[in-house]
Amino acid sequence: MDFQFTDEQQQLRRSVREFAEGEIAPHVMVWDEASRFPIEIIPKLAEMGLLGIIFPEKYGGAGLGYIEYVIAIEELSRVDGSVGIIIAAHNSLCSNHIFKFGTEAQKEKYLVPLARGEKIGAWSLTEPEAGSDAGGTRTTAKRDGEHWIINGAKTFTTNGHYADVCVAMAVTDKSKNSHGISAFIVEKGTPGFRPGKKENKLGLRASDTSEMILSDCRVPQQNLLGAEGEGFIGSLKILDGGRISIAALALGMAQGALDAAVKYAKQRKQFGQAISEFQAIQFKLADMATQVEAARLLVYQAAWLADSGAARFTRESSMAKLFASEVAVSVANECVQIHGGYGFIKDYPAEKFYRDVKLCTIGEGTSEIQKLVIARQLLGKK
Ligand SMILES: Cc1cc2nc3c(=O)[nH]c(=O)nc-3n(C[C@H](O)[C@H](O)[C@H](O)COP(=O)(O)OP(=O)(O)OC[C@H]3O[C@@H](n4cnc5c(N)ncnc54)[C@H](O)[C@@H]3O)c2cc1C
Repeated sequence: MDFQFTDEQQQLRRSVREFAEGEIAPHVMVWDEASRFPIEIIPKLAEMGLLGIIFPEKYGGAGLGYIEYVIAIEELSRVDGSVGIIIAAHNSLCSNHIFKFGTEAQKEKYLVPLARGEKIGAWSLTEPEAGSDAGGTRTTAKRDGEHWIINGAKTFTTNGHYADVCVAMAVTDKSKNSHGISAFIVEKGTPGFRPGKKENKLGLRASDTSEMILSDCRVPQQNLLGAEGEGFIGSLKILDGGRISIAALALGMAQGALDAAVKYAKQRKQFGQAISEFQAIQFKLADMATQVEAARLLVYQAAWLADSGAARFTRESSMAKLFASEVAVSVANECVQIHGGYGFIKDYPAEKFYRDVKLCTIGEGTSEIQKLVIARQLLGKK
């Protein structure tokens, strides 16, 4: 057992932290208030290799692993969860689906520019009537010679309006249920494909969450991603890694909230002393720090398993996602409490963490669904 990060990993953490504190922190509230996607930082993040962190160099990636990926998402999210989720959806959902299931030609055409950060990716599984029950996908794709004609609407797609490349799931054979859903690569500008309503959200407001409309959208046969009928099963494998991202997002925001609470508790004076002198506050901080550290162990264990080449790490990624997201909600809540009335005011970071973290118990499978996944593994059910 070795809990030590390598020198390179520590250096990566330092450089992402420096970037987040220097180039993201000063703008987060402006972006948040305006619900503005921080497009200007994408080239800088790409330069740091963060748009293709988990992909081999031959595909334009940084050639690093999930441990490094978690470090990056954790450090970005410690400052701004919106930036964290933008990078997470791009890497571990869209690009990873192409990496894991794409042909060499698809990787060359789509993964390389995505990993280099020349293009932005999105991944559309969820639909208005198919959320937790994603097997209930209604979007259809019908074969027409050398093309597929896709019709339907996706919802809640991260990066929707900014994506150049979208991986979307559609039913190709209704009689086969979840084995009749296929994945398609749909490019921005394809006739019949457009982002729809941009959601006005509680939190993570600088990230874009949108409908994706597919109306008689013709995509060539070469854009079928993976085998026909295997798109849903593939999505479940992609979500194993995706859940590590959301766990890392939660971990980063929880750490950010803890840091903010410690800083404020030392500054704020009441009854003639810093509130950090009150045992009630110390106990809160101790509980928060212990929860964050426990979450960190689960998240990095899941990342380590992903790097070890394990075929599946469903149980561990679900546990990490479930625990880290619930911890983050609780820690952000206590962070607001420690800030008192100032926790309710936008001059301090507490209220934003409180709003932003809630997504983590919902996105990529709610906490209830994570419990079903974990129980299924425990009970040996498929
Ligand atoms: C900001 C944001 C970004 C997102 N990004 C993406 C994205 O990039 N791509 C994408 O495809 N999707 C994305 N999503 C969608 C997200 O994954 C879904 O919202 C989530 O899976 C839940 O689906 P739902 O919203 O339809 O809730 P529902 O499935 O309707 O759930 C409602 C409630 O019922 C509970 N429930 C449902 N089924 C069960 C059950 N069997 N047992 C017990 N309880 C149950 C749920 O836990 C929840 O509490 C995003 C969502 C948000 C809010």
